[in-house]
Amino acid sequence: MTVFPELAPLVRTATRLHPRPGTPSVHDSSIGGPLLWPASEPWPHCHAEDHDAERFPSISLADARLERRMRAARSSAGREYTAEEREILDRMEERPAADGPIAMLPVAQLYVRDVPGLHPPEGADLLQVLWCPYEHDDDGMPKTALFWRSAAAITDVLVDPPEPAEYEEDLVPEPCMIDPEQVIEYPHSGELEGELRQRVDQWTMAQIPGVEFGGLEDRDQPYNFLCIAPGWKIGGFIKWGMQDPYPNPCPTCGTPTEPLLTIASDEWQSDVHHWVPYEDQAANISWGAVQGGPSEPTQICVSDRNNQIIRVCPASHEHPHIQLMQ
Ligand SMILES: [Zn+2]
Ligand SMILES: [Zn+2]
Repeated sequence: MTVFPELAPLVRTATRLHPRPGTPSVHDSSIGGPLLWPASEPWPHCHAEDHDAERFPSISLADARLERRMRAARSSAGREYTAEEREILDRMEERPAADGPIAMLPVAQLYVRDVPGLHPPEGADLLQVLWCPYEHDDDGMPKTALFWRSAAAITDVLVDPPEPAEYEEDLVPEPCMIDPEQVIEYPHSGELEGELRQRVDQWTMAQIPGVEFGGLEDRDQPYNFLCIAPGWKIGGFIKWGMQDPYPNPCPTCGTPTEPLLTIASDEWQSDVHHWVPYEDQAANISWGAVQGGPSEPTQICVSDRNNQIIRVCPASHEHPHIQLMQ
């Protein structure tokens, strides 16, 4: 900040959510956990036509998650399935393919009391995000739905929500508790004017001669890597890469939208040990390069390990959200 006073007015506080596998209840903030959903309100379904071609029979969500955990345990131990595990796998029954709308899946439930940086509409204290567990042809991402609620107003909670008859397994989040942490972020270098951008890039390179950035792709300049937190988060900046920075104006009123929620395929890059929380560092090292470890607590993968960013209009909660992939 003393080196680049121009950056001071541009900083934003983001809230990293730090999801970790657990057994959240409807009263907890969670990723992929159960929602505090009013029994009287219809569960959201996706009516889009553009996932029909990919639909196939699948096992129940509970079985899919169990299978995934057994697969990860097998891989990390470098062994075969045990006889007991095989028996469990054999008992899992495939369900027939079904027509019709697809029940959406809980992605995030965030109580304002737990997550700094949320700006609810008046009277609301709970944000719920669901998605249709298919990549859709129009933007390559699962379709999302957002709901703001007052938790106290929900007295009759839906106990047995519908689940999708079919889904892409990579889009079924593992239920996780969250452990929010606020961090300061700086704008992506693409959002800075040219001369300042060059100076911050040069300065950053000079500060970190000992840091190994060999695993970074070209698009991830060290400045951007250090200044924008990876992983699931609220607010903050976008690590642009698939497109240049763009204000993504609100389709209703034209106001530039702002990042609300980043849905991330990874919490950090497994080959670059930066941004790894202290409490996860030992587990991260001992897990090694096998998939399904501490850097992938939610087990979701948005199209080739990308981030899906939900942006909202700061002018009105009534205006529809937009989403983009980076
Ligand atoms: Zn859909
Ligand atoms: Zn708007």
